[in-house]
Amino acid sequence: MSSQIPYKTYLNESEIPTAWYNVRADMKVKPAPLLNPGTGKPLSAEELTPIFCEELVQQELDNDTAFIPIPQEILDFYKMYRPSPLVRAYCLEKVLDTPAKIYYKFEGNNTSGSHKLNSAIAQAYYAKKQGLKGVTTETGAGQWGTALSMACAYLGLDCKVFMVKVSYEQKPFRREVMRTYGASVTPSPSMETDVGRKILAEFPGTTGSLGCAISEAVEVAVKNPGYRYVLGSVLNQVLLHQSIIGLEAKAAFDKLGVKPDMIIGCAGGGSNLGGLISPFMGEKLRGEADYRIIAVEPASCPSFTRGKFAYDFCDTGMICPLAKMYTLGSGFIPSPNHAGGLRFHGMSTILSQLYHDGLMEARAVEQTAVFEAAEQFARCEGILPAPESSHAIKAAIDEALKCKETGEEKTILFGLTGTGYFDLVAYQQFNDGKMSDYIPTDEDLAKGFAGLPVVPGT
Ligand SMILES: *Cc1c(COP(=O)(O)O)cnc(C)c1O
Repeated sequence: MSSQIPYKTYLNESEIPTAWYNVRADMKVKPAPLLNPGTGKPLSAEELTPIFCEELVQQELDNDTAFIPIPQEILDFYKMYRPSPLVRAYCLEKVLDTPAKIYYKFEGNNTSGSHKLNSAIAQAYYAKKQGLKGVTTETGAGQWGTALSMACAYLGLDCKVFMVKVSYEQKPFRREVMRTYGASVTPSPSMETDVGRKILAEFPGTTGSLGCAISEAVEVAVKNPGYRYVLGSVLNQVLLHQSIIGLEAKAAFDKLGVKPDMIIGCAGGGSNLGGLISPFMGEKLRGEADYRIIAVEPASCPSFTRGKFAYDFCDTGMICPLAKMYTLGSGFIPSPNHAGGLRFHGMSTILSQLYHDGLMEARAVEQTAVFEAAEQFARCEGILPAPESSHAIKAAIDEALKCKETGEEKTILFGLTGTGYFDLVAYQQFNDGKMSDYIPTDEDLAKGFAGLPVVPGT
Protein backbone atom coordinates (compact mmCIF):
# COMPACT_ATOMS: atom_id res chain seq x y z
CA MET A 1 0.00 0.00 0.00
CA SER A 2 2.92 2.30 -0.58
CA SER A 3 1.16 3.61 -3.67
CA GLN A 4 1.15 7.30 -4.56
CA ILE A 5 -2.61 7.50 -4.57
CA PRO A 6 -3.98 8.69 -1.22
CA TYR A 7 -6.82 6.92 0.56
CA LYS A 8 -8.96 10.01 0.23
CA THR A 9 -8.86 12.75 -2.33
CA TYR A 10 -10.70 15.92 -1.42
CA LEU A 11 -11.00 18.97 -3.59
CA ASN A 12 -10.35 22.30 -1.90
CA GLU A 13 -13.47 24.28 -1.09
CA SER A 14 -12.54 26.70 -3.83
CA GLU A 15 -12.44 23.80 -6.32
CA ILE A 16 -16.08 22.80 -5.78
CA PRO A 17 -17.72 23.12 -9.20
CA THR A 18 -19.74 26.34 -9.55
CA ALA A 19 -22.05 25.14 -12.34
CA TRP A 20 -24.10 21.97 -12.73
CA TYR A 21 -23.61 20.02 -15.95
CA ASN A 22 -26.67 19.16 -18.04
CA VAL A 23 -25.84 15.97 -19.96
CA ARG A 24 -28.91 16.47 -22.21
CA ALA A 25 -26.97 19.21 -24.00
CA ASP A 26 -24.62 16.56 -25.41
CA MET A 27 -27.22 13.87 -26.14
CA LYS A 28 -27.88 13.44 -29.85
CA VAL A 29 -31.16 11.72 -29.07
CA LYS A 30 -32.80 13.85 -26.38
CA PRO A 31 -34.95 12.25 -23.70
CA ALA A 32 -38.61 12.14 -24.77
CA PRO A 33 -40.67 15.10 -23.51
CA LEU A 34 -43.14 14.84 -20.64
CA LEU A 35 -46.68 14.57 -22.00
CA ASN A 36 -49.97 15.91 -20.75
CA PRO A 37 -51.98 12.76 -19.97
CA GLY A 38 -55.17 14.46 -21.14
CA THR A 39 -54.05 15.69 -24.57
CA GLY A 40 -51.03 13.45 -25.25
CA LYS A 41 -49.10 16.64 -26.19
CA PRO A 42 -45.74 17.73 -24.72
CA LEU A 43 -46.24 19.71 -21.54
CA SER A 44 -45.54 23.42 -21.68
CA ALA A 45 -43.89 25.39 -18.90
CA GLU A 46 -47.29 26.99 -18.15
CA GLU A 47 -48.84 23.59 -17.54
CA LEU A 48 -46.05 22.54 -15.19
CA THR A 49 -45.86 25.68 -13.01
CA PRO A 50 -48.97 24.86 -10.93
CA ILE A 51 -47.12 21.74 -9.75
CA PHE A 52 -43.42 22.69 -9.78
CA CYS A 53 -41.45 25.87 -8.96
CA GLU A 54 -40.90 28.12 -11.97
CA GLU A 55 -37.12 28.00 -12.16
CA LEU A 56 -37.16 24.22 -11.70
CA VAL A 57 -39.60 23.93 -14.63
CA GLN A 58 -37.07 25.83 -16.78
CA GLN A 59 -34.36 23.38 -15.73
CA GLU A 60 -36.66 20.44 -16.34
CA LEU A 61 -37.34 21.50 -19.93
CA ASP A 62 -33.85 22.71 -20.82
CA ASN A 63 -32.29 20.19 -23.21
CA ASP A 64 -29.62 22.56 -24.52
CA THR A 65 -27.73 24.54 -21.87
CA ALA A 66 -24.66 22.51 -20.93
CA PHE A 67 -23.69 24.40 -17.77
CA ILE A 68 -26.14 26.01 -15.35
CA PRO A 69 -24.53 28.21 -12.67
CA ILE A 70 -25.13 27.11 -9.07
CA PRO A 71 -26.54 30.06 -7.09
CA GLN A 72 -24.21 31.36 -4.37
CA GLU A 73 -26.68 30.48 -1.56
CA ILE A 74 -26.67 26.85 -2.67
CA LEU A 75 -22.88 26.82 -2.96
CA ASP A 76 -22.67 28.17 0.59
CA PHE A 77 -24.88 25.33 1.81
CA TYR A 78 -22.87 22.77 -0.21
CA LYS A 79 -19.74 23.95 1.62
CA MET A 80 -21.18 22.69 4.93
CA TYR A 81 -20.82 19.09 3.75
CA ARG A 82 -19.01 19.18 0.41
CA PRO A 83 -16.74 18.40 -1.28
CA SER A 84 -17.32 14.73 -0.61
CA PRO A 85 -14.28 12.45 -0.64
CA LEU A 86 -13.19 10.20 -3.47
CA VAL A 87 -11.90 7.16 -1.60
CA ARG A 88 -9.48 4.53 -2.83
CA ALA A 89 -10.79 1.25 -1.39
CA TYR A 90 -7.37 -0.22 -0.62
CA CYS A 91 -8.75 -2.41 2.17
CA LEU A 92 -11.48 -3.89 -0.02
CA GLU A 93 -8.94 -4.50 -2.81
CA LYS A 94 -6.76 -6.37 -0.34
CA VAL A 95 -9.61 -8.53 0.97
CA LEU A 96 -10.65 -9.36 -2.60
CA ASP A 97 -7.02 -9.92 -3.61
CA THR A 98 -7.76 -8.19 -6.90
CA PRO A 99 -5.49 -6.27 -9.26
CA ALA A 100 -8.44 -3.90 -9.87
CA LYS A 101 -8.22 -0.40 -8.46
CA ILE A 102 -11.45 0.45 -6.69
CA TYR A 103 -12.61 3.97 -5.88
CA TYR A 104 -15.85 5.20 -4.41
CA LYS A 105 -17.38 8.63 -4.14
CA PHE A 106 -18.93 8.82 -0.66
CA GLU A 107 -22.08 10.90 -0.32
CA GLY A 108 -23.12 9.80 3.17
CA ASN A 109 -21.29 12.50 5.15
CA ASN A 110 -24.32 14.56 6.11
CA THR A 111 -27.21 14.03 8.52
CA SER A 112 -29.63 12.94 5.79
CA GLY A 113 -27.11 10.18 5.15
CA SER A 114 -27.29 10.35 1.38
CA HIS A 115 -26.70 12.31 -1.82
CA LYS A 116 -30.31 13.56 -1.74
CA LEU A 117 -29.33 16.76 0.05
CA ASN A 118 -27.60 17.97 -3.15
CA SER A 119 -30.96 18.39 -4.87
CA ALA A 120 -33.08 19.08 -1.76
CA ILE A 121 -31.25 22.34 -1.06
CA ALA A 122 -31.52 23.38 -4.70
CA GLN A 123 -35.25 22.70 -4.90
CA ALA A 124 -35.97 24.36 -1.55
CA TYR A 125 -33.90 27.37 -2.60
CA TYR A 126 -35.92 27.93 -5.79
CA ALA A 127 -39.19 27.53 -3.84
CA LYS A 128 -38.03 30.13 -1.34
CA LYS A 129 -36.88 32.45 -4.12
CA GLN A 130 -40.34 32.23 -5.67
CA GLY A 131 -41.85 33.36 -2.36
CA LEU A 132 -43.66 30.09 -1.63
CA LYS A 133 -44.81 28.99 1.83
CA GLY A 134 -43.78 25.40 1.56
CA VAL A 135 -43.29 22.22 -0.40
CA THR A 136 -44.83 18.74 -0.40
CA THR A 137 -43.15 15.50 -1.26
CA GLU A 138 -43.09 11.75 -0.84
CA THR A 139 -40.39 9.63 0.70
CA GLY A 140 -39.77 5.90 0.52
CA ALA A 141 -36.90 4.78 2.70
CA GLY A 142 -36.84 8.28 4.18
CA GLN A 143 -33.59 9.77 2.96
CA TRP A 144 -35.25 12.23 0.60
CA GLY A 145 -37.75 13.36 3.22
CA THR A 146 -34.91 13.87 5.69
CA ALA A 147 -32.82 15.79 3.19
CA LEU A 148 -35.74 18.01 2.23
CA SER A 149 -36.61 18.66 5.90
CA MET A 150 -33.04 19.79 6.50
CA ALA A 151 -33.08 22.11 3.49
CA CYS A 152 -36.50 23.54 4.43
CA ALA A 153 -35.46 24.11 8.03
CA TYR A 154 -32.36 25.98 6.81
CA LEU A 155 -34.43 28.24 4.54
CA GLY A 156 -37.54 28.59 6.73
CA LEU A 157 -39.99 26.72 4.46
CA ASP A 158 -42.85 24.44 5.52
CA CYS A 159 -42.33 20.79 4.52
CA LYS A 160 -45.08 18.15 4.22
CA VAL A 161 -43.85 14.60 3.66
CA PHE A 162 -45.93 11.57 2.65
CA MET A 163 -43.97 8.52 3.71
CA VAL A 164 -44.61 5.07 2.23
CA LYS A 165 -46.47 3.24 5.00
CA VAL A 166 -44.17 0.22 5.23
CA SER A 167 -41.17 2.53 5.77
CA TYR A 168 -43.11 4.74 8.20
CA GLU A 169 -43.66 1.67 10.34
CA GLN A 170 -40.21 0.10 9.83
CA LYS A 171 -38.23 3.31 10.24
CA PRO A 172 -39.74 5.33 13.10
CA PHE A 173 -36.40 6.98 13.80
CA ARG A 174 -36.15 8.37 10.31
CA ARG A 175 -39.57 9.94 10.88
CA GLU A 176 -38.34 11.56 14.10
CA VAL A 177 -35.34 13.08 12.34
CA MET A 178 -37.72 14.71 9.85
CA ARG A 179 -39.95 15.99 12.65
CA THR A 180 -36.89 17.36 14.45
CA TYR A 181 -36.21 19.45 11.34
CA GLY A 182 -39.82 20.67 11.49
CA ALA A 183 -41.47 18.58 8.75
CA SER A 184 -44.90 16.97 9.08
CA VAL A 185 -44.84 13.27 8.18
CA THR A 186 -47.95 11.33 7.08
CA PRO A 187 -48.00 7.59 6.31
CA SER A 188 -49.17 6.92 2.75
CA PRO A 189 -51.74 5.97 1.60
CA SER A 190 -53.59 8.28 3.99
CA MET A 191 -57.14 9.48 4.47
CA GLU A 192 -55.95 13.07 3.96
CA THR A 193 -56.23 13.08 0.17
CA ASP A 194 -58.80 11.98 -2.41
CA VAL A 195 -56.28 9.71 -4.06
CA GLY A 196 -55.21 8.18 -0.73
CA ARG A 197 -58.82 7.44 0.23
CA LYS A 198 -59.44 5.91 -3.19
CA ILE A 199 -56.37 3.65 -3.02
CA LEU A 200 -57.24 2.56 0.55
CA ALA A 201 -60.80 1.71 -0.54
CA GLU A 202 -59.47 -0.36 -3.44
CA PHE A 203 -56.55 -2.02 -1.61
CA PRO A 204 -57.23 -2.03 2.14
CA GLY A 205 -54.13 -3.05 4.07
CA THR A 206 -51.72 -1.96 1.30
CA THR A 207 -48.20 -1.17 2.54
CA GLY A 208 -48.06 1.71 0.09
CA SER A 209 -45.73 2.58 -2.74
CA LEU A 210 -43.73 5.56 -3.88
CA GLY A 211 -46.10 6.06 -6.80
CA CYS A 212 -49.01 6.34 -4.40
CA ALA A 213 -47.23 8.73 -2.04
CA ILE A 214 -46.32 10.92 -5.03
CA SER A 215 -50.00 11.19 -5.99
CA GLU A 216 -50.90 12.32 -2.48
CA ALA A 217 -48.09 14.89 -2.30
CA VAL A 218 -49.01 16.34 -5.71
CA GLU A 219 -52.67 16.59 -4.74
CA VAL A 220 -51.84 18.52 -1.56
CA ALA A 221 -49.47 20.87 -3.44
CA VAL A 222 -52.02 21.66 -6.14
CA LYS A 223 -54.86 22.23 -3.65
CA ASN A 224 -52.93 24.50 -1.25
CA PRO A 225 -51.97 28.01 -2.40
CA GLY A 226 -48.28 28.82 -1.85
CA TYR A 227 -47.23 25.17 -2.09
CA ARG A 228 -45.45 23.25 -4.81
CA TYR A 229 -44.45 19.64 -5.18
CA VAL A 230 -40.82 18.57 -5.20
CA LEU A 231 -39.39 15.17 -6.13
CA GLY A 232 -36.12 13.62 -4.99
CA SER A 233 -35.27 11.53 -8.04
CA VAL A 234 -36.29 10.64 -11.62
CA LEU A 235 -36.71 14.21 -12.93
CA ASN A 236 -34.19 15.87 -15.25
CA GLN A 237 -33.69 18.72 -12.76
CA VAL A 238 -32.67 16.25 -10.03
CA LEU A 239 -30.06 14.62 -12.25
CA LEU A 240 -28.82 18.12 -13.06
CA HIS A 241 -28.33 18.99 -9.37
CA GLN A 242 -26.73 15.60 -8.70
CA SER A 243 -24.14 16.26 -11.43
CA ILE A 244 -22.15 17.86 -8.59
CA ILE A 245 -21.20 14.28 -7.60
CA GLY A 246 -19.73 13.42 -10.98
CA LEU A 247 -18.11 16.82 -11.50
CA GLU A 248 -16.31 16.56 -8.18
CA ALA A 249 -15.33 12.95 -8.87
CA LYS A 250 -13.97 13.86 -12.29
CA ALA A 251 -12.03 16.83 -10.90
CA ALA A 252 -10.53 14.60 -8.20
CA PHE A 253 -9.53 11.96 -10.76
CA ASP A 254 -8.00 14.65 -12.96
CA LYS A 255 -5.98 15.81 -9.94
CA LEU A 256 -4.72 12.25 -9.46
CA GLY A 257 -4.11 11.77 -13.17
CA VAL A 258 -6.34 8.70 -13.14
CA LYS A 259 -9.13 7.73 -15.54
CA PRO A 260 -11.74 5.15 -14.47
CA ASP A 261 -12.51 2.30 -16.87
CA MET A 262 -15.93 1.62 -15.47
CA ILE A 263 -18.45 3.56 -13.44
CA ILE A 264 -21.03 1.74 -11.37
CA GLY A 265 -24.05 3.09 -9.54
CA CYS A 266 -27.26 1.86 -7.98
CA ALA A 267 -30.42 2.92 -9.75
CA GLY A 268 -33.74 3.68 -8.08
CA GLY A 269 -35.09 6.63 -10.04
CA GLY A 270 -31.63 7.26 -11.46
CA SER A 271 -30.53 10.48 -9.78
CA ASN A 272 -27.26 9.46 -8.11
CA LEU A 273 -26.21 7.36 -11.07
CA GLY A 274 -27.19 10.09 -13.51
CA GLY A 275 -25.30 12.67 -11.45
CA LEU A 276 -22.23 10.50 -11.04
CA ILE A 277 -21.92 9.59 -14.69
CA SER A 278 -22.97 12.91 -16.27
CA PRO A 279 -19.56 14.47 -16.97
CA PHE A 280 -18.10 11.08 -17.99
CA MET A 281 -21.09 10.37 -20.22
CA GLY A 282 -20.64 13.85 -21.68
CA GLU A 283 -17.11 12.88 -22.77
CA LYS A 284 -18.42 9.62 -24.14
CA LEU A 285 -21.19 11.38 -26.10
CA ARG A 286 -18.71 13.89 -27.51
CA GLY A 287 -16.36 11.07 -28.50
CA GLU A 288 -13.57 12.28 -26.21
CA ALA A 289 -13.32 9.20 -23.99
CA ASP A 290 -14.97 5.87 -23.41
CA TYR A 291 -16.25 4.38 -20.17
CA ARG A 292 -18.24 1.29 -19.26
CA ILE A 293 -21.22 2.47 -17.27
CA ILE A 294 -23.28 0.02 -15.24
CA ALA A 295 -26.63 0.63 -13.52
CA VAL A 296 -27.44 -1.82 -10.72
CA GLU A 297 -31.01 -2.42 -9.64
CA PRO A 298 -32.81 -4.86 -7.33
CA ALA A 299 -34.02 -8.09 -8.93
CA SER A 300 -37.30 -7.44 -7.10
CA CYS A 301 -37.87 -4.09 -8.85
CA PRO A 302 -36.12 -4.54 -12.22
CA SER A 303 -37.15 -1.46 -14.26
CA PHE A 304 -34.17 -1.43 -16.64
CA THR A 305 -33.58 -5.14 -17.05
CA ARG A 306 -37.16 -6.34 -17.33
CA GLY A 307 -39.23 -3.16 -17.78
CA LYS A 308 -40.73 -1.72 -20.96
CA PHE A 309 -39.49 1.50 -22.61
CA ALA A 310 -42.81 3.28 -22.83
CA TYR A 311 -44.77 6.32 -21.76
CA ASP A 312 -46.10 5.82 -18.25
CA PHE A 313 -47.33 7.70 -15.23
CA CYS A 314 -44.82 8.50 -12.52
CA ASP A 315 -47.48 7.92 -9.85
CA THR A 316 -50.13 5.36 -8.97
CA GLY A 317 -52.98 7.89 -8.97
CA MET A 318 -52.23 8.71 -12.62
CA ILE A 319 -52.37 12.46 -12.06
CA CYS A 320 -48.72 13.21 -12.90
CA PRO A 321 -47.36 13.87 -16.39
CA LEU A 322 -46.46 10.93 -18.61
CA ALA A 323 -42.76 10.19 -18.94
CA LYS A 324 -41.12 7.88 -21.47
CA MET A 325 -38.97 5.56 -19.44
CA TYR A 326 -38.14 1.99 -18.58
CA THR A 327 -41.06 1.08 -16.37
CA LEU A 328 -42.78 -1.81 -14.64
CA GLY A 329 -46.11 0.04 -14.77
CA SER A 330 -47.32 2.62 -12.26
CA GLY A 331 -49.38 -0.02 -10.45
CA PHE A 332 -46.30 -2.14 -9.71
CA ILE A 333 -45.64 -2.60 -5.99
CA PRO A 334 -42.51 -4.54 -4.98
CA SER A 335 -43.04 -7.51 -2.70
CA PRO A 336 -43.20 -6.44 0.98
CA ASN A 337 -40.08 -8.47 1.85
CA HIS A 338 -38.04 -6.20 -0.41
CA ALA A 339 -35.86 -4.32 2.08
CA GLY A 340 -33.26 -2.58 0.00
CA GLY A 341 -34.90 0.64 -1.21
CA LEU A 342 -34.78 1.45 -4.95
CA ARG A 343 -38.48 0.59 -5.16
CA PHE A 344 -39.69 3.08 -7.77
CA HIS A 345 -41.48 1.49 -10.76
CA GLY A 346 -39.88 3.75 -13.38
CA MET A 347 -36.54 5.35 -14.25
CA SER A 348 -35.16 8.75 -15.24
CA THR A 349 -36.02 9.57 -18.88
CA ILE A 350 -32.42 10.66 -19.45
CA LEU A 351 -30.96 7.36 -18.27
CA SER A 352 -33.72 5.43 -20.05
CA GLN A 353 -32.77 7.05 -23.36
CA LEU A 354 -29.03 6.49 -22.79
CA TYR A 355 -29.68 2.85 -21.93
CA HIS A 356 -31.97 2.43 -24.92
CA ASP A 357 -29.23 3.87 -27.15
CA GLY A 358 -26.68 1.36 -25.83
CA LEU A 359 -24.57 3.94 -24.01
CA MET A 360 -24.83 2.14 -20.68
CA GLU A 361 -25.52 -1.32 -19.26
CA ALA A 362 -27.81 -2.52 -16.49
CA ARG A 363 -27.92 -5.54 -14.24
CA ALA A 364 -30.22 -6.77 -11.49
CA VAL A 365 -28.97 -8.26 -8.21
CA GLU A 366 -30.75 -10.19 -5.46
CA GLN A 367 -31.07 -8.68 -2.03
CA THR A 368 -29.30 -11.36 0.03
CA ALA A 369 -26.27 -11.02 -2.26
CA VAL A 370 -26.50 -7.25 -1.81
CA PHE A 371 -26.41 -7.55 1.97
CA GLU A 372 -23.49 -10.00 1.78
CA ALA A 373 -21.60 -7.36 -0.20
CA ALA A 374 -22.66 -4.68 2.32
CA GLU A 375 -21.32 -6.76 5.17
CA GLN A 376 -18.04 -7.49 3.42
CA PHE A 377 -17.61 -3.80 2.65
CA ALA A 378 -18.49 -2.67 6.18
CA ARG A 379 -16.02 -5.11 7.73
CA CYS A 380 -13.05 -3.87 5.71
CA GLU A 381 -13.80 -0.28 4.72
CA GLY A 382 -15.50 0.70 7.97
CA ILE A 383 -18.53 2.50 6.56
CA LEU A 384 -21.95 0.92 7.19
CA PRO A 385 -23.43 1.30 3.71
CA ALA A 386 -27.06 2.00 2.84
CA PRO A 387 -28.73 -1.06 1.26
CA GLU A 388 -29.31 1.03 -1.89
CA SER A 389 -25.61 1.84 -2.17
CA SER A 390 -24.78 -1.80 -1.55
CA HIS A 391 -26.23 -2.72 -4.94
CA ALA A 392 -23.34 -0.77 -6.44
CA ILE A 393 -20.89 -2.35 -4.00
CA LYS A 394 -22.09 -5.81 -5.08
CA ALA A 395 -21.47 -5.05 -8.76
CA ALA A 396 -18.11 -3.41 -8.03
CA ILE A 397 -16.99 -6.49 -6.09
CA ASP A 398 -18.15 -8.77 -8.91
CA GLU A 399 -16.20 -6.73 -11.46
CA ALA A 400 -13.11 -6.68 -9.23
CA LEU A 401 -13.30 -10.47 -8.90
CA LYS A 402 -13.50 -10.78 -12.69
CA CYS A 403 -10.28 -8.74 -12.86
CA LYS A 404 -8.72 -11.23 -10.45
CA GLU A 405 -9.53 -14.03 -12.90
CA THR A 406 -8.24 -12.21 -15.95
CA GLY A 407 -5.41 -10.33 -14.23
CA GLU A 408 -6.65 -7.03 -15.62
CA GLU A 409 -5.86 -3.90 -13.60
CA LYS A 410 -9.11 -2.09 -14.28
CA THR A 411 -9.99 1.10 -12.46
CA ILE A 412 -13.49 0.92 -11.03
CA LEU A 413 -15.46 3.88 -9.67
CA PHE A 414 -18.69 3.32 -7.82
CA GLY A 415 -21.12 5.63 -6.08
CA LEU A 416 -21.43 5.04 -2.34
CA THR A 417 -24.62 7.03 -1.98
CA GLY A 418 -25.19 6.79 1.75
CA THR A 419 -25.08 5.17 5.14
CA GLY A 420 -27.34 2.46 6.54
CA TYR A 421 -27.93 3.49 10.17
CA PHE A 422 -31.70 3.66 9.60
CA ASP A 423 -31.81 0.37 7.75
CA LEU A 424 -31.05 -1.83 10.70
CA VAL A 425 -34.35 -3.72 10.50
CA ALA A 426 -33.16 -4.96 7.12
CA TYR A 427 -29.68 -5.70 8.48
CA GLN A 428 -31.34 -7.55 11.37
CA GLN A 429 -33.31 -9.73 8.93
CA PHE A 430 -30.09 -10.47 7.12
CA ASN A 431 -28.10 -11.21 10.28
CA ASP A 432 -30.88 -13.48 11.56
CA GLY A 433 -30.83 -15.39 8.27
CA LYS A 434 -34.44 -14.36 7.65
CA MET A 435 -33.93 -12.36 4.49
CA SER A 436 -35.33 -13.89 1.35
CA ASP A 437 -35.14 -13.05 -2.33
CA TYR A 438 -38.31 -12.50 -4.22
CA ILE A 439 -37.98 -12.15 -7.94
CA PRO A 440 -41.25 -11.21 -9.63
CA THR A 441 -42.50 -13.74 -12.18
CA ASP A 442 -43.35 -12.72 -15.74
CA GLU A 443 -46.99 -13.01 -14.66
CA ASP A 444 -46.44 -10.57 -11.78
CA LEU A 445 -44.86 -8.10 -14.20
CA ALA A 446 -47.58 -8.58 -16.80
CA LYS A 447 -50.07 -7.10 -14.33
CA GLY A 448 -48.04 -3.90 -14.12
CA PHE A 449 -47.59 -3.73 -17.92
CA ALA A 450 -51.34 -4.16 -18.43
CA GLY A 451 -51.80 -0.79 -16.71
CA LEU A 452 -49.52 1.10 -19.12
CA PRO A 453 -51.45 3.95 -20.72
CA VAL A 454 -52.18 3.89 -24.44
CA VAL A 455 -50.63 7.08 -25.81
CA PRO A 456 -51.51 7.86 -29.42
CA GLY A 457 -48.50 8.41 -31.66
CA THR A 458 -45.89 6.93 -29.32
C1 LIG B 1 -32.63 7.51 -2.75
C2 LIG B 1 -31.38 6.78 -2.65
C3 LIG B 1 -30.92 6.01 -3.74
C4 LIG B 1 -31.66 5.82 -5.02
O1 LIG B 1 -32.14 6.93 -5.67
P1 LIG B 1 -31.56 7.39 -7.08
O2 LIG B 1 -32.43 8.53 -7.47
O3 LIG B 1 -31.67 6.24 -8.02
O4 LIG B 1 -30.18 7.81 -6.84
C5 LIG B 1 -29.70 5.38 -3.60
N1 LIG B 1 -28.99 5.45 -2.47
C6 LIG B 1 -29.42 6.16 -1.40
C7 LIG B 1 -28.59 6.17 -0.16
C8 LIG B 1 -30.63 6.85 -1.46
O5 LIG B 1 -31.04 7.55 -0.42
